[in-house]
Amino acid sequence: MNFSESERLCELLETSGWRETKNPDQAGLIIAFGCSVRQKAENRVISFLKSHKYLKEKGTIFCLAGCTANLHKEKIFNYLPFLDIVCGPNHIAEIPEIVDNYSPGRIIIKTGEKDSPFIECIPSKKNITIMIPITKGCNNFCSYCVVPMARGKLQSRKPHSIIEEIKNAVEQGIKAITLLGQNVNEYGKDFTTDYDFSDLVCEILKIENLMRIGFVTSHPEDTSEKLLSIMAQNKKIMKHLHIPLQSGSDKILRDMNRKYTVEEFLQVVETARRLMPEISITSDIMVGFPGETKQDFEKTLSIIKEVRFNELFIFKYSPRPMTKAFELPDDVSREEKEHRHRIILETQKEISREILSSFIGKACEVLVERRSIKNPLLLIGKNIQGIPVTFKNNQNLIGKIVNVEITGYEEGILFGKVNGEYL
Ligand code: SF4
Repeated sequence: MNFSESERLCELLETSGWRETKNPDQAGLIIAFGCSVRQKAENRVISFLKSHKYLKEKGTIFCLAGCTANLHKEKIFNYLPFLDIVCGPNHIAEIPEIVDNYSPGRIIIKTGEKDSPFIECIPSKKNITIMIPITKGCNNFCSYCVVPMARGKLQSRKPHSIIEEIKNAVEQGIKAITLLGQNVNEYGKDFTTDYDFSDLVCEILKIENLMRIGFVTSHPEDTSEKLLSIMAQNKKIMKHLHIPLQSGSDKILRDMNRKYTVEEFLQVVETARRLMPEISITSDIMVGFPGETKQDFEKTLSIIKEVRFNELFIFKYSPRPMTKAFELPDDVSREEKEHRHRIILETQKEISREILSSFIGKACEVLVERRSIKNPLLLIGKNIQGIPVTFKNNQNLIGKIVNVEITGYEEGILFGKVNGEYL
């Protein structure tokens, strides 16, 4: 979400005369998007800003944007007294106007919740794929998560605004989109009509020349059979579902306020695989949540082995202020969290390797996205499961769907050779 918002903000700033530089020493304005989902992410943005403080003497304007800005508000000056602008996620569209009218010495704080417009502009520094935000905020209140506090309650973007943006993007050469939201399946729950995420996907499917549609993230509780059937019936929809499990223990899931049981999660997986045997399922796991015993952890490990996810994102719990779980004792030691993290990582590595090796000798349809920066002879794209595929070819195949026979894999990437016709 931060990446998508920063990309769009960059576009807005360029239309008002700013130019992006990758070299902070040349910057007249530094905007850091702070993620607060874990302490480590927050520490990273704070140390990034501190390490560039020396530019203040040259008159560089410093802005902290995103969730970290909203959570800390003026208290952030205790850590970063040299900041000029503090801007929460619902005020990002205001940044170009703020910086255009900025006079040195002023401090501007724009935080808090409000209904704010989605930034409706298509980033021009794109290749053939684009992320389309469809919701902001979240109404789920998982007990460990700051997102509802940092980004506010659910706001669904109006369907016509999404459809128009995708049509424009396709006219400009975009071939694939990823619909983006904290929980895309919650889309439309704040509308007065019963228009939901499946309805939106069906409307998007009608857009001509759009080759692929993906979405992230899905909450297991809201992943309906209706949506899974639409995915199964349409070749344009990516056969990839990212559904965070978080824990394999019902007790921990209840304390996390996840609103599903392990059994219900397994049912979603079973339905998805029954309708789409080829589907790639990825997930998030959190280890060391307060009260997570060795038995709870063993249950998580056993579900991971049973489900055999394509890929896992594994996190160590860290208490976040303002959340329900913050009130609970953080009683799993750092060493134990690290131990559990490592065990899951090793287990999943082996599973991912086995899944990737099962592609060898098979053909996949790959939408070619770009050339490798390191080796321009290599083209890189994704198959319908969203798995990166690379192959050697000197023709201009970017934006085309190519049949690739898989010959090997390395570090999460399949590689192969072109086989037959291009679409
Ligand atoms: S669904 Fe839960 S974890 Fe995801 S953003 Fe909402 S509150 Fe956070």
